[in-house]
Amino acid sequence: LPSSAEKIWFNGKLIPFADAKVHVLSHAIHYGSSVFEGVRAYNTPDKGTCIFRLDDHTKRLFDSAKIYRMTIPYTHEQLNQAQKDVVVQNGFKSAYLRPAAFYGEIGLGLAVPFNTEADVLVAAMEWGAYLGEEALENGVDAGISSWNRLAANTMPTGAKAGGNYLSSQLISMEARRHGYGEGIALDVNGYVSEGAGENLFVIRDNVVTTTPVTAAILPGITRDTIITLLRDMGYEVREQNIPREALYLADEVLMCGTAAEVTPVRSVDGINVGDGKRGPITKKVQDAFFGLFNGTTEDKWGWLTPVK
Ligand code: PMP
Repeated sequence: LPSSAEKIWFNGKLIPFADAKVHVLSHAIHYGSSVFEGVRAYNTPDKGTCIFRLDDHTKRLFDSAKIYRMTIPYTHEQLNQAQKDVVVQNGFKSAYLRPAAFYGEIGLGLAVPFNTEADVLVAAMEWGAYLGEEALENGVDAGISSWNRLAANTMPTGAKAGGNYLSSQLISMEARRHGYGEGIALDVNGYVSEGAGENLFVIRDNVVTTTPVTAAILPGITRDTIITLLRDMGYEVREQNIPREALYLADEVLMCGTAAEVTPVRSVDGINVGDGKRGPITKKVQDAFFGLFNGTTEDKWGWLTPVK
């Protein structure tokens, strides 16, 4: 479980952890009206502690807010700085960051008046491998959920909004109840969508496929990273619909996300993926991914931002 920090950035100031509180009638508590990010900072050998793809995460936070017509009363630059500050001021070398914007004490009316300002926070915590250290090497057992992902005309999965995570909770709780390490949801058309908090890649005969944004996914920043790293290594990566059985017949399946990083999937619904172990392409892409942080992969893309 995450272990938390001494200070949290809340509405423009770094305040003590214990003081970062909201009212019980906060709008977000009742209606899930928040948008958020999950970001990681890694301790690199050459540039010290760096936030991974900081600008892309901050941009997605503003994009999620835009979809919900939510006003974030800070600039992109200010929120970048806040993310650096929570790492530095808490003395973390590596950290998981949680920026969020939410409606606080604005009354309980559903239709939020235009230009209502959101409350904004950035928290930092120490958080190791989300699906377990062991899973990074040996893979997770995943199961298809009985819950589908949201249909495109119900709630936008392209927004990283608090309310969406009720869907993720159902998926991951059901998976754990059935003894799986993680759940995978299908979209309303029956195609593979994503894990409860991870995007998916399927590899067969050296061709890599990931689900398209039309399959009710959150377009993950790690997903984009994996696509970029694989193409850079010369692999063909396709974005196309994946039927459920393609997971059973794959040579390799992997899950990725900021929290989950790059985790092999060793079985789906109790059927071994390949020979039930981490596959060679998954290993290569893990090495390339973690290499960005241990200095063995050159950061050609400018993805690492030093915190100071
Ligand atoms: N899908 C969902 C539902 C998620 O919650 C996450 C984690 N933010 C992802 C995909 C992966 O996104 P990212 O790589 O940007 O963390």
